[in-house]
Amino acid sequence: MTKRVVLIGHPVAHSLSGAMQQAAFDALKIDARYELWDRPPIELADAVEELRGDEFLGANITIPHKERVVPQIDRSTEEAAATGAVNTITREGRRLIGHNTDVAGFDVALDTLVGRQKMPRHAVVLGAGGGARAVVYGLIRAAFQRVVVFNRHLHRSEALVRHFGRSAAHMELRAMPWHESIIESELAKTKLLINATSIGLTTDAAPVPGEVLSPELLVLDLIYKQTRLLREAAELGCTTMDGELMLLHQGAASFSLWTGQAAPLELMADALAAARAGGLTSAEGEPAGDRSTAVAGA
Ligand code: NDP
Repeated sequence: MTKRVVLIGHPVAHSLSGAMQQAAFDALKIDARYELWDRPPIELADAVEELRGDEFLGANITIPHKERVVPQIDRSTEEAAATGAVNTITREGRRLIGHNTDVAGFDVALDTLVGRQKMPRHAVVLGAGGGARAVVYGLIRAAFQRVVVFNRHLHRSEALVRHFGRSAAHMELRAMPWHESIIESELAKTKLLINATSIGLTTDAAPVPGEVLSPELLVLDLIYKQTRLLREAAELGCTTMDGELMLLHQGAASFSLWTGQAAPLELMADALAAARAGGLTSAEGEPAGDRSTAVAGA
């Protein structure tokens, strides 16, 4: 029986994740098919119930369901419980296990970005969605001492800070209102800037203007392309990285959880690069971009 792995999101289409996972299944001769399920929030519960069937290896969960799916899971791993967000589901019999492999993906991206330099202790994070939760948890685990989170809707970043309350008790984790002057003054005290908003995904907008950046900054954009933010940062002399490495490593971790096998990383990286060269920019599919909360943050 061909096994099934599904990506549940809304909207989903032409996904980078699909290209990389199907290539990995095929290369390792695993009889499995990666399917895209576009399910609005009202249909999420039924879709997740279906995953208990024998033919399913598991699922990826993406925008806007990563937080909403948590109550339907029978057991959460440490990363899923700590972030309050699930991006991968596996099955043990009829029980569903929730994982968050974005955290592992972020760890690799951060280590690679920092390279041989000393790991910074202060960071500015833009965004407060599911991606930002994985980032903040990764920074807490990497022993950062001060992390400031800016979000368009302040209540969401405040909820994020409350969520991490206990695990961040030893450090300073703060939500601040999205004002350019406040962001600029925080960046002046910071070595690391992470964009975890979707600004720049479907348009050439930047979350902050190039003038607020300084050449010493390390800049990571979770978006899987050379965004305007990354281009302007690189022009100034900053060290920059886009979201591809994080995407690759979260995907590799999910693959191993579903199959019990080591992921063919190089092959998955090639499949990602080929899909990107073909014009795909989103793991979820089109159009998961910097639109209003009605869709992106619903
Ligand atoms: P969510 O929908 O959970 O969050 C979206 C975030 O973007 C929110 O902080 C939202 O702010 C902000 N935002 C969206 N549009 C605007 C706008 N016009 N102005 C200001 N803020 C805006 O998405 P995720 O956290 O899951 O994903 C965020 C980005 O990170 C996406 O581009 C996604 O593709 C990428 N990502 C990449 C990963 C990787 O492996 N590289 C892993 C996870 C995510 P508000 O709350 O105010 O609406």
